[in-house]
Amino acid sequence: MTVRLNLGALPDSKYAALLRKSPPPARFPAGLEREFIRDSLRAQRLIVRFACTLALLLLLLRTVELTAAGTLLADPLRAAALGAVVLCSAALAWLAFSRAYRRLYLPVAYWLVPLRSALLAVEVVMLSCGGQPLMMMLLPLLLLGPLFFLGLPFRAGLLSAALAFLLALGTALALDLPPATLLSGSGFLLATLVVSALAARLNERRARREFLERRLLGELAQQDALTWTKNRLVFDETLERWWVRAASAARSLAIGLIDVDYFKAYNDRYGHQAGDAALRRAAQAIERCARRPLDLVARYGGEEFGVILFDTDRAGATAMAEAMRCAVQSLAIEHDNSRCGEVLTISVGVAVVRPTAWRNAYGALQLADEALYRAKSKGRNRIEVMDDVEHRLLVTGEFSRDIIAMVKDGVPAG
Ligand code: GH3
Ligand code: MG
Ligand code: MG
Repeated sequence: MTVRLNLGALPDSKYAALLRKSPPPARFPAGLEREFIRDSLRAQRLIVRFACTLALLLLLLRTVELTAAGTLLADPLRAAALGAVVLCSAALAWLAFSRAYRRLYLPVAYWLVPLRSALLAVEVVMLSCGGQPLMMMLLPLLLLGPLFFLGLPFRAGLLSAALAFLLALGTALALDLPPATLLSGSGFLLATLVVSALAARLNERRARREFLERRLLGELAQQDALTWTKNRLVFDETLERWWVRAASAARSLAIGLIDVDYFKAYNDRYGHQAGDAALRRAAQAIERCARRPLDLVARYGGEEFGVILFDTDRAGATAMAEAMRCAVQSLAIEHDNSRCGEVLTISVGVAVVRPTAWRNAYGALQLADEALYRAKSKGRNRIEVMDDVEHRLLVTGEFSRDIIAMVKDGVPAG
């Protein structure tokens, strides 16, 4: 099934913005470009391994053949060139199979592939002019390899293929090849270079588009479609993960629930569309307050948002909640149907707890909900914070004594 995305409706996505560009960009911004190159390298690993191994085997066979014929040592310069080519191929093949592939293969291949192609181009032309014309058939491989099979980005592949072409041509000229042979041979090779470069360019463009689409879909799966904050799925998953991490690291966790005040009345007064726009602005204002790397703001449902702050104490959580409340109030979104002011406001309930292994996160979430309820009942447009004192009194989120005993005794539950 093909999903057609309306890219115009996703203004906040950097992936959608790049997908909208026409013509598509040949390079992404630096960070994204690195991720694209890393992804493509991972996807091409099998073909890179195959191409590197095949090249190394063919070159080793050739070395054995020349050594057996006794011709290798007769020309030390060519023997050194062949040695260099074999070494380059061995290094590339080793890297293609090694653990350092992701880190080292490309930086090394940027240099070794053009060097090997250049040396081979000269050698192949010399051999074909020296009585082995069939060797000429190897030349197209020196163009296709860097463009399609060795994991190089398009520009590096093209550079390597063009270098091989120019050196092959230069060698043929230096060896005084008959003009007719030179013309037809170089014409054929140039056509191969142009056609394969075009195909490689289109190939990379498709790979770039698919990369952006994959990223965009990944983003959409985590994002709330209206407010563009993270969605409930991410909230629930993050809460469970950080609960366990905070419990094992003996850190505190602050969980906040935010609810827009008198929002039904807002919709009734200004219409649902205006309600959507107000919700989006409120979400952005809330999100601007939670900028630390481990802060999470997500749409919890309807006009409610959930916040998780890792390793945050009561004072920090109180300050953050108050900053969020002020941020929404100072948007000054008119709400003359509100009974707690003239602008759109929020109420915030926060639970600051020290997670433990024998309680799950749901008790803390309920505590935040109770704090929110208290904020609402005390008049709205305010924050309420509860902590471990109230958490201890709460039963929700506590594992039953049987399960705790089973875990302690090492008996699998269930
Ligand atoms: P309270 O101060 O007690 O929270 O009052 P409230 O009116 O905000 O609470 P209530 O739960 O009665 O109503 C929530 C409203 O939020 C009702 C619903 O139409 C509105 N709402 C929920 N999600 C959306 C949305 O995505 N867009 C719009 N425009 N409205 C929404
Ligand atoms: Mg609500
Ligand atoms: Mg509400």
